[in-house]
Amino acid sequence: MKKKLTDYSSEEWENICNHCGKCCLLKLQDEDTGNIYYTDIVCKYYDMENERCSIYEKRCEVVPECLKLTPDNIDKIEWMPKSCAYRRLFEKDSGSPSSTSSIKGRCISEQNVKEDELEDHIIDWEDL
Ligand code: SF4
Ligand code: SF4
Repeated sequence: MKKKLTDYSSEEWENICNHCGKCCLLKLQDEDTGNIYYTDIVCKYYDMENERCSIYEKRCEVVPECLKLTPDNIDKIEWMPKSCAYRRLFEKDSGSPSSTSSIKGRCISEQNVKEDELEDHIIDWEDL
């Protein structure tokens, strides 16, 4: 019998993440179409060396737009990377490519990017 997402314990749920870091990349939204575009700019709290959020336990307080992924909301967040391990689990038959490749070495911290340069950083990675 298939395991339901809601059957995962908190620890099991946390362990699904492969720490690719792609959900920590900044996204831009087209005001007219609503389309979301990923950039190679990463949240300033992302620890590139250890490939982890440096404020994980309090991330939602410090960064209000940082989302806490749960079994109850994974089906509602359309902008999650297609290769995200949680999304893959939810869309088991989606056929989207599986990828554990991380953002390490190919992104820049938001602290080093000026506001008017954001659009220059839009990416179209095949493994997003
Ligand atoms: S606060 Fe942490 S989990 Fe949230 S986007 Fe930034 S680095 Fe990622
Ligand atoms: S995109 Fe998914 S698998 Fe990758 S770090 Fe974010 S939550 Fe984890």
